[in-house]
Amino acid sequence: MQTLSARPTVRRLDADQVFRDPIPTTIPWRLSHAAFPAHSDKTYYLSQMTDTRSPEQRSRIMRSVKSKHTKPELAVRRIVRSLGYGYRIHRKDLPGKPDLAFIGRKKAIFVHGCFWHGHDCPKGRLPKSRQGFWVDKIEKNQQRDRRAVEALTNNGWQTLTIWQCELRDSDAAREKISTFLASNS
Ligand SMILES: [Zn+2]
Repeated sequence: MQTLSARPTVRRLDADQVFRDPIPTTIPWRLSHAAFPAHSDKTYYLSQMTDTRSPEQRSRIMRSVKSKHTKPELAVRRIVRSLGYGYRIHRKDLPGKPDLAFIGRKKAIFVHGCFWHGHDCPKGRLPKSRQGFWVDKIEKNQQRDRRAVEALTNNGWQTLTIWQCELRDSDAAREKISTFLASNS
């Protein structure tokens, strides 16, 4: 039996907080549990939380997630500018409204947040149980991402996806983007 003083650390996460932040700084419980088994002795409340919001409120919160001009996007734009390329952002006439489009070159760059687009990295891995209201959202995002790349490719475009976690190594990210934009084939 655990005594009170031996209880594990408890972090309370507010669901709205997580949804408001396009790049969650807090990792929801299920995710952290799956990704960081070493931390699984900790108790996180998010997974047990019932949704106290109305469907309308929830969808408003969900919509706000799809925010433009996120920090990773700005980082990629900065790199591209420094490489001397011009670009258009969020072109509605292109499949998936790529974050950056290079019209003449028929190239597009997508910048994805690891969590919301389900990257195969510690920040993005889906929980094994696949429960929670965000899993649906992430799977839909992944499907939409795949369809966009497919449609662009079918139209003779080349695409590059830059993940949020890749931007931690800015030199490597710069190299990747530079190679992509310079290639002819
Ligand atoms: Zn990642």
